[in-house]
Amino acid sequence: MHAALSCSALATSYLIFRFGWFQGAWRWAGFASLLWALEELAWGYGRLVAEVPTVLTDSLYFTGSSLWGIALLSMPRKRLPSMNLLFGLPIFALLIWLNLQSYHSSALLFPLSDALLLLLAVPSVEAALQSKAHEGKILWGFGFYVKALASALYGWLSPDLTNQHPFLLLVIFAYLFIGVGCWLELKGTRGTLVPAIFTIVGLEAVVGTVLYMLYKVSSATPIVFAGIAGVLGYLLFFGIAILLITDRKIRLRAEARLKNYSQLLERLLSLRTDQLAIRGLLEALLFHLKPVFASLEGIVLRSDTLYSLGQTKGYAFPIVADGNELGHLYFSETPKNSELLDALSPLLANKIQTTLGHISNQAQAFTDPLTGLLNRRGMQNASMVLVERARQNGQHLSLAIIDLDFFKRVNDQFGHDVGDKALIFLAGILKRNVRQNDLAVRWGGEEFLLILYGANLRIAKDVVKRISYELKSSHIPPISWTLTLSAGVAGGDKIAEDFNLTDCLHEADKMLLEAKAKGRDRIASFEPARLTQHKKQV
Ligand code: GH3
Ligand code: MG
Ligand code: MG
Repeated sequence: MHAALSCSALATSYLIFRFGWFQGAWRWAGFASLLWALEELAWGYGRLVAEVPTVLTDSLYFTGSSLWGIALLSMPRKRLPSMNLLFGLPIFALLIWLNLQSYHSSALLFPLSDALLLLLAVPSVEAALQSKAHEGKILWGFGFYVKALASALYGWLSPDLTNQHPFLLLVIFAYLFIGVGCWLELKGTRGTLVPAIFTIVGLEAVVGTVLYMLYKVSSATPIVFAGIAGVLGYLLFFGIAILLITDRKIRLRAEARLKNYSQLLERLLSLRTDQLAIRGLLEALLFHLKPVFASLEGIVLRSDTLYSLGQTKGYAFPIVADGNELGHLYFSETPKNSELLDALSPLLANKIQTTLGHISNQAQAFTDPLTGLLNRRGMQNASMVLVERARQNGQHLSLAIIDLDFFKRVNDQFGHDVGDKALIFLAGILKRNVRQNDLAVRWGGEEFLLILYGANLRIAKDVVKRISYELKSSHIPPISWTLTLSAGVAGGDKIAEDFNLTDCLHEADKMLLEAKAKGRDRIASFEPARLTQHKKQV
């Protein structure tokens, strides 16, 4: 029996050393268990072979206990246990009561130091019960309980017990619980059947052994016997209840996580990558992610420049694809389900990257490379949005076609490059003179189109006059004369249901021809009076 005891203690220290050598707290625990094992060896030797001084065994034992104390104190969870553990009170009460039964004071030290270790282990056990830490902690924590129980019973019953084997058996179980628990935790093994079976058999054996010891001792009165049996029964019930509750908690949490996960996945997959503008992408992201991450407040994306939406301070989560930082998500506080974000961020980043690529391709396809203005395709897309917006807001919309006068001469005299330079120059003037909602389009070679949002005919004409004036007052070297432009302006009404952009373009074009015919360097507009005339003609 003594050999088995020493072996179980040695096995515990071996398991801890084998798997925990590189973790500070566990190395202490390994040495502590080794000292305990040596103490058991010395004690067994002393009892069976030749006298060993108690000073040696005691000092081995208490040094081991102190090292265990250091190990337990250096474990991450040090906060005080919560009210949940009040359910364990009968068990602690039993231990204290048993401790008080021992009458020789030297023997009292053992159960007291063991009980102290149990108390130090309680926060770890609680973390495991709340499934915030590995379940192995429950096993080794229980090992400390059995050890304290064994010491207490020994102090109390050993004078009356003829045979010490049940006591040794209890301590063996204590070591095994500690060893197996540490082993499971350090290896990170979860949910296998072996520890469950071991726990149940171990619990039964511990309870059985204690009852047997009490039965053998004549000094235990029936009422004490019943009390202790009751607490041990309660312990069994308590253990099983904890297992069930923990299992349920883990399952519920896993279910919630799965639900969140699939919800987010669904939302990410439904995120459209064919957005036309980064603003739309930002809005879509916020719309889809906010229900899953309540503390999400803003987004910043980096394309050619920075684009942001919402609040851009607080906890920043980087969006990274292929090693490139695309931007950040901003949270008012660290998101609770951040593991979800970590898991799905590659997909999120990928979606964003695809969308940004799409937006950039679209922008290229819709832009005139020489002037940077919209091209015809770009105008077709953007004008649909603009007409719809004007219709919804009851706004005026005007249209102007601008054509450079005698432009062919510039090309003929100074070459195509100078012609290009003049076109870029005019495009610059156009960009400066339209507002954010307006569209400036390179309509053809040296023909430009403006669609002016919220402008009636008078305002539109003013805008074009300003542009014409700016052109006339500029000198574009090496062109030796002043460039002028002619323009046709049309529209200017509030957008009605039957508005047709093509008709309007046609009218502006007609006005441009009229301006050219009348001698160039002028603006002709499709006046409302003529509109009615025109309509009558149609
Ligand atoms: P008008 O006053 O009647 O408009 O005379 P114009 O010479 O401007 O008219 P026309 O339409 O006959 O000539 C347009 C010229 O614009 C023809 C072409 O050489 C030139 N052009 C068209 N696209 C480009 C371009 O991208 N770069 C340059 N440099 N010239 C262009
Ligand atoms: Mg021209
Ligand atoms: Mg022309």
